[in-house]
Amino acid sequence: MALTEGTPAYGWAAFDKASPLKAFQFFRRTPRPDDVTFKVKYCGICHSDLHQIHDDWGSAVFPMVPGHEITGIVSAVGADVKKFKVGDRVGVGCVLNSCRECENCQGGLENYCHKKMIWSYNDYDFYIDNKLTYGGYSNVMIASERYVLQIPDAVPLDIAAPLLCAGITVYSPMKYYGLEQGGKNFGVVGLGGLGHVAAKIAKAFGKHVTVISRSATKEKEAFEHLNADSFLVSTDKKQMEAAAKSLDFIIDTVAAKHDVNEYLQLLKVNGKLINIGLPAGSIEVSPFVIANSRLTLGGSMVGGIAETQEVLDFCGEHNITCEIETIPIDYVNTAMERLKKGEVKYRFVIDIEGSLKPPVSPL
Ligand code: NAP
Ligand code: ZN
Repeated sequence: MALTEGTPAYGWAAFDKASPLKAFQFFRRTPRPDDVTFKVKYCGICHSDLHQIHDDWGSAVFPMVPGHEITGIVSAVGADVKKFKVGDRVGVGCVLNSCRECENCQGGLENYCHKKMIWSYNDYDFYIDNKLTYGGYSNVMIASERYVLQIPDAVPLDIAAPLLCAGITVYSPMKYYGLEQGGKNFGVVGLGGLGHVAAKIAKAFGKHVTVISRSATKEKEAFEHLNADSFLVSTDKKQMEAAAKSLDFIIDTVAAKHDVNEYLQLLKVNGKLINIGLPAGSIEVSPFVIANSRLTLGGSMVGGIAETQEVLDFCGEHNITCEIETIPIDYVNTAMERLKKGEVKYRFVIDIEGSLKPPVSPL
């Protein structure tokens, strides 16, 4: 169920899994004492938004206001808010709420909350009001301060937006699975929103970065813009064979069903492939491929709040900027079509403040 009263809000929503997104009005909750309210300035478009709109994961609730890479400026704080004040530069990512009590929430892993984490859209926040959550393709966000991130001064709000999902999603497994301690040769499969940030962060960790892409056209840019060290065209059998057993650590960001065995063969003995792409269906792995080289196949889902702050700060300190194409909200349906075809270098970010118009007859 959606709220029928509270804070009036407006944005763009998907009304079913096939039709274009269009303007939509709704209510957010009345702010609570621990809530931060912020005016949304930018919101990134993640491929997960596309999966959700198309109901690839079978959990879509409509109308759906997507968006979990949200940045803006604080417009109000509740009486109990300690970390933020009006005018602060803030963001909200994928994690909007969680039980706050379990071992994982207490340990900074709210994204793996034992009870359940609440996603910033297409979810029901049963810890608060059990009402449908709406994301950042909208004018205003309200979130408990525990789940609000501070955007470092060095990172512009548009460029910061993708770090709230793409950034943390690639950074978290790099840390957990020991990229820093492991060998030097890092590979990233899929040069899209997540992939390009992975390449940049791995460079900041001092790795030799190989981009593995089906798109030969991305090679020049990978060298010039992302400072990659090597490029493999995944559809070129000869190139793939020549690179066998050359990498220590791979992050696979591919958004469609694919044969992961082809990439596992690129790993050296003891290598790790961490899958973070979330196409529908399952991954089929040859037991021989993983056994023969004592490989680790892992996964990872977004990241906790403290670690999201860490990646924002890390990118600020290392001058890591996402490559974005800023678009007005009324371009969002074209952007979705282009994202589907892999025609974005490398993240669409919606200029919400500059393009989202208030409704003619507000609620
Ligand atoms: P994206 O910008 O569309 O990038 C995905 C890349 O995958 C594309 O640029 C393309 O790279 C490659 N690709 C797409 N279709 C392919 C195909 N049929 N065969 C081979 N390669 C293909 O998407 P994104 O926003 O980075 O998200 C990537 C995936 O991660 C999505 O499934 C998304 O839902 C998921 N995700 C997971 C988490 C998590 O926590 N685990 C968080 C956010 C997103 P090339 O053209 O270079 O080959
Ligand atoms: Zn995302």
